[in-house]
Amino acid sequence: MIKVGIAGAAGKMGRALVRAVVEHPELSLSAAWDRKDHPSIGQDAGVLAGLVAAYVVVGDSAAAAIAKSEIVIDFTAPDATVAIVRHAVETGCALIVGTTGMTSEQLTMLQKAGEKIAVVYATNFSTGVNVLWALAEQAAGILGEAYDAEIIESHHNLKKDAPSGTAVTLLEAIARGKGLDPQKSAIHGRVGMPGVRRKEEIGVHAVRAGDIVGEHIALFAGPGERIELKHQAHSRDVFARGAVRAATWVKKQDPGFYHMSDVLGIKTK
Ligand code: NAD
Repeated sequence: MIKVGIAGAAGKMGRALVRAVVEHPELSLSAAWDRKDHPSIGQDAGVLAGLVAAYVVVGDSAAAAIAKSEIVIDFTAPDATVAIVRHAVETGCALIVGTTGMTSEQLTMLQKAGEKIAVVYATNFSTGVNVLWALAEQAAGILGEAYDAEIIESHHNLKKDAPSGTAVTLLEAIARGKGLDPQKSAIHGRVGMPGVRRKEEIGVHAVRAGDIVGEHIALFAGPGERIELKHQAHSRDVFARGAVRAATWVKKQDPGFYHMSDVLGIKTK
């Protein structure tokens, strides 16, 4: 059994991760912790996640939890992730990191940790989204410049940022397939008189409505036909399942900075 610790175990993703680890035949929950002032400190991590007791209490020390773990899965906040990386490098613990919103300095630190330990980092751990990124890149390359590409993403009405990180990665994938610069090609929504569409444009459109968990469409339209590649997330358990899949994969890897595409064996340009 591989010993897996869960950071931010009281959070929405943390609880989904505890469920995914406890239910996995090759993994055992070695530790679970959250920030020092969290009201859930001291509770059983399994019960907190809606399961029977896992006999692992939610602690408040990253150092103690990482010392007990071969792999740590971290979906918390950028500052917490930085501290976790430091402890993991000291003990040689592998890391699966899903925390978003990191600065470029924080990401560089995470990449550098890959020289000492195995790290898998992804802004979206859903297997389906990783397949969408790969298919969109491939489609953009095959269809070429005769086909216009547009991205439409939809999320719930409480989401603060736009476009989603997943849509930004989709933009980069399509741009890579078409041999374009994603920054120069992106057109975020259209209003007024933007003029006739330029061939190299990739439109990005953000819908915010109701309780949509997350939907991403890569649309390619050419003369007389169109293709839509669409991914819909129904529950955040898909991210937890992907992270757990990464955990079983990373155990066999040398130190390095890996992406979910490495875990899934997807080849990108
Ligand atoms: P959340 O707010 O429900 O959970 C975050 C948890 O981290 C909280 O319990 C919080 O107390 C804990 N935390 C914060 N600082 C900590 C510290 N110093 N030490 C220990 N625990 C600490 O949020 P969430 O919806 O679970 O999302 C968490 C992160 O995961 C966000 O960055 C989110 O964008 C990201 N996320 C990534 C993916 C992906 O596939 N990569 C998917 C979903 C969410």
